[in-house]
Amino acid sequence: AELGRQAAAIISQIRNVVIEHEEELGKLDAIAGDGDHGIGMRRGVDAAATAGDAAHGSSAKGVLSAAGEAWSERAGGTSGALWGSAVIAAGQSLGNRESYSAQDAAAAVEAFANAITELGKAEPGDKTMVDALLPFRDAFLGELDGGNPLDRALAVAAAAAESAAAATAELRPLKGRARPLAEKSLGHPDPGAVSFALIAARVSQFID
Ligand code: ADP
Ligand code: MG
Ligand code: MG
Repeated sequence: AELGRQAAAIISQIRNVVIEHEEELGKLDAIAGDGDHGIGMRRGVDAAATAGDAAHGSSAKGVLSAAGEAWSERAGGTSGALWGSAVIAAGQSLGNRESYSAQDAAAAVEAFANAITELGKAEPGDKTMVDALLPFRDAFLGELDGGNPLDRALAVAAAAAESAAAATAELRPLKGRARPLAEKSLGHPDPGAVSFALIAARVSQFID
């Protein structure tokens, strides 16, 4: 259950970075949304961390299924449902492995991204977390394809997510609650893209 233990440790890192940025994410969501992105992510990831710890001794799949279910259930809101389903999908991809190869990591990231695009149906440019997620995925897979080690692939992908999240400031929201106030959102990045990039950066630091 070594990989399950690592998965729980990563969820706990995600919890830390969400707590550090909870207020900032709420303020960002208040510009054109309903202001609950910080508290929603906090509630979701708190529940996920508790459920992940409670599943200790279990496989990556066991830990991430429990964490993802708790995340969806407790977060409320769009981002919570998306994060929860993505965490579950990554866990299903890793299954009962005791360790993972670069290929396994690539498959888990793909499963994570597919869960979000399949459930949320946002397209690139809609100004959602997808605008940070897909550049992250593409950079990660590209680096691994080029034979680069996992820590480097993660660092490059996290940097890609960060600049892509910043670039959402120029977009008008076409999905989610911010859509009716699209004009207000101009000049400000999408909250879900920003939280994704923050989390990617923290996970990358943790895994290196
Ligand atoms: P809610 O919008 O329900 O209040 P949050 O505030 O927690 O939920 O999350 C808002 C974020 O969710 C947005 O900034 C955006 O990144 C993301 N989001 C909204 N709709 C979608 C969607 N259909 N697909 C992907 N991400 C989405
Ligand atoms: Mg919101
Ligand atoms: Mg809401």
